[in-house]
Amino acid sequence: MNYLKRTWCDIDLNCLKYNIEQIKSIAKKELFAVVKANAYGHGDEFVSKTLHDCGIKYFAVSNYNEARNLRSFGITGEILILGHTPCEYVNDMIKYDISQTVYDIDYAKSLNSHIKEGKLKVHIKIDTGMCRIGFLQNEVHDAYNEIKQLYTMDKFDIQGIFTHFSCADSYNEQDEEFTKRQINRFDKVLKDLEDNNIKIPIVHTQNSAGIINYDCSGKYTHARAGVAMYGLKPSDDINPDIKLKPILSIKTTVAMVKEIDENSEVCYGRTFKANEKMKVATLTIGYADGYCRAFSNRADVLINGKRCRVLGRVCMDQTVVDVTGLDVNIGDTAVVVGKSLDEEITMDELALLDNTINYELVCGISCRVPRVYYLDDNIIGVVDDSIKY
Ligand SMILES: *Cc1c(COP(=O)(O)O)cnc(C)c1O
Repeated sequence: MNYLKRTWCDIDLNCLKYNIEQIKSIAKKELFAVVKANAYGHGDEFVSKTLHDCGIKYFAVSNYNEARNLRSFGITGEILILGHTPCEYVNDMIKYDISQTVYDIDYAKSLNSHIKEGKLKVHIKIDTGMCRIGFLQNEVHDAYNEIKQLYTMDKFDIQGIFTHFSCADSYNEQDEEFTKRQINRFDKVLKDLEDNNIKIPIVHTQNSAGIINYDCSGKYTHARAGVAMYGLKPSDDINPDIKLKPILSIKTTVAMVKEIDENSEVCYGRTFKANEKMKVATLTIGYADGYCRAFSNRADVLINGKRCRVLGRVCMDQTVVDVTGLDVNIGDTAVVVGKSLDEEITMDELALLDNTINYELVCGISCRVPRVYYLDDNIIGVVDDSIKY
């Protein structure tokens, strides 16, 4: 299959399937596959279709357009919007069988009043300590009183209830205590419901870090797997027993190779000065592709299994690397993230350089970069959102 071999991502769907099996085996419950933000930059179409094929029946997204996109790809099963949707969309949500999170009484009333016919599937979000969205549950506030009110809103079909952990990815003792407190607060809501004979079929708390670090087996019906599906660790504080395989690599192309003289200064601002004669290669990747400017003079790429340091500033569309002493030619491929022979550059390695997390880097791979999908070593599809002709 054809695609522009400038900068591109290879995405290995076999690794996605492998990760799902790993996560299922430790979560021991049904999974919501979190495919928000274009499947964390991996491309929601092929990712969600692959998940659908391996039996995932629940999907979670951040907004209405993402949910509609999944339906347009033929995804059946539940699609839950985790965040806010303007009430004007409620009848279309019913039409396309999209479930909405309700997290505030005024929002719930407004949603309910916009419904013309049918019922909206909803999940109730409980705020057990994140202070983002959700009905407050803590030592002073009981969410139960508000949940009771939701049951008077006759156009809701209450399908689920959930909460979200703020620090399940930390081994810090106080953070562990906090996560346990979040679990206890959520369990209190479940107890209040049970005492009042209210049964909610779908109950979920764990994100990737929650699945990996907290054994909630026998509790809750579902968990929400995001970053771990893509083979990335939520943080360094993660039980090493889980084996995940990164599914995405980023590759780019050598546009030119040249010798530069001693004292040459490379790229904008002349931030790199050659102490001696060097050989440099110019790559067709820059910050407009999502390759951060913070990598200037710091990151490495791999060419034929050898690390090559970025020289000078990362530009919008081009980056210069040191290939002194290496046999490198125009048209060669450089691995920006991923494996080359015995070497590997991980998202985590790059995230450290930008003082950020792997999540932000994958979400930041721009739409200029084609995504190429592999299954059993064959290319089964290419998505290139940069083409408008
Ligand atoms: C994004 C998100 C997740 C997934 O988190 P990961 O750390 O990627 O597993 C789960 N639940 C909610 C509410 C989210 O917003």
